[in-house]
Amino acid sequence: MIQLYIPLNFLGVIYREIKQSLTDLDRMFTLMDKEREVADAPDARPLRLEAAPPEVRFEHVDFAYDPARPILHDVSFAIPAGKTVAVVGPSGSGKSTLARLLFRFYDVQGGHVRIAGQDIRDVTQASVRAAVGIVPQDTVLFNDTVEYNIAYGRPGASRQEVEAAARAARIHDFIVHTPQGYETRVGERGLKLSGGEKQRVAIARTLLKNPPILIFDEATSALDSANERAIQNELRSAAQGKTSLVIAHRLSTVVDAHEILVMDSGRIIERGTHEALLAQGGRYAQMWNLQRNQPESEPAAQPA
Ligand code: ADP
Ligand code: MG
Repeated sequence: MIQLYIPLNFLGVIYREIKQSLTDLDRMFTLMDKEREVADAPDARPLRLEAAPPEVRFEHVDFAYDPARPILHDVSFAIPAGKTVAVVGPSGSGKSTLARLLFRFYDVQGGHVRIAGQDIRDVTQASVRAAVGIVPQDTVLFNDTVEYNIAYGRPGASRQEVEAAARAARIHDFIVHTPQGYETRVGERGLKLSGGEKQRVAIARTLLKNPPILIFDEATSALDSANERAIQNELRSAAQGKTSLVIAHRLSTVVDAHEILVMDSGRIIERGTHEALLAQGGRYAQMWNLQRNQPESEPAAQPA
C-alpha cells in the first residue's frame, strides 16, 4: 500500500503541475490568438512621434468582432495632443472596444485609427504598443513576482522606480506586507490578488511605463472610494501633458475632459464638454443627476 501510495501522490503532484501548465499554455494561445488578429504590413515601419505627445484620431470607424454582429458604427473623434477625451455610456455600448482598437488588439473594418496622422495599420504593432499605456478593465497578471509585473511596464527599471510607481498607485504598503515583498509571486500560481489590488498593480505598471498616450478603462472601478479618490489624483497628474482616453464609470472623473463622448449601442449619441452636455439636458445630464443622488459618489460628484 505504501509503495503504491507514494507514486500516486507523486503523480498527483505531476498531474497538478501539468494541469497548471496547460492552463498557462491555454492563456498563452489565447494571447497569441489576439496577436494574430492583426499582422504587421510587409512594409510596416515604426510609428514616428516627432513632437510628443501625439494627436489621436478615430475617423468613421466601423468595427465588429464577428462580421454578423456590428459593434461600432461610424465613430469619429479626435484627442488633440496632450488632451483628455472621456467616454461614458452603458455597459456593452462599445467603450472598451475603442480602447482595444487604439491599442490595436484588432483592426477596424471601416475608417481609420490614426496616431500622429499615421494609420496604425501601416506601422509596427510594437511601436504602437510602446507608445500606448493601457490600464484595462480586467488585469491579468503574469505568474511572476510583483516586481516583474510592475517593471513589465519598463523593463530595466530600477527597484526605486518600481517602488515609486507602486507608491503612486497605493499598492506599495500592501506589497511590503506580503511574505516576500516585491519578490512575492502573484497570479494563478502565486498570491491571489483581489480585483482592486490587481488594478493597482496595472496602474503602477502604466505609471512606470510613462507613455505619451494613456488609456484608462474604468481604471479604478474595483477600488474602494477612499483609494479611488487618492489614485484619481495620481492619474490626473500622470495624464498631464499626455494624450489620454479615459473610460469612466464615475462621471465626477470626467468633468475636466476636453470632450466627453456618450456612447450607446456602438454610436456616439452626445458629445461636448461637461457644461455643454449638462445644458443640453439629454442622456449625459440624466446620468449626472442619477449619480449625484447616489450617496456613495456624493462627495466626489460635486464639481469644484
Ligand atoms: P463596454 O466597454 O461599453 O461595456 P465593450 O466594448 O466591452 O462594451 O463591448 C461592446 C460589445 O461588444 C458588447 O456587446 C460585447 O458583448 C461585445 N464584445 C466585446 N468583446 C467581444 C469579443 N471579444 N468578442 C465578441 N464580442 C465582444
Ligand atoms: Mg468596458
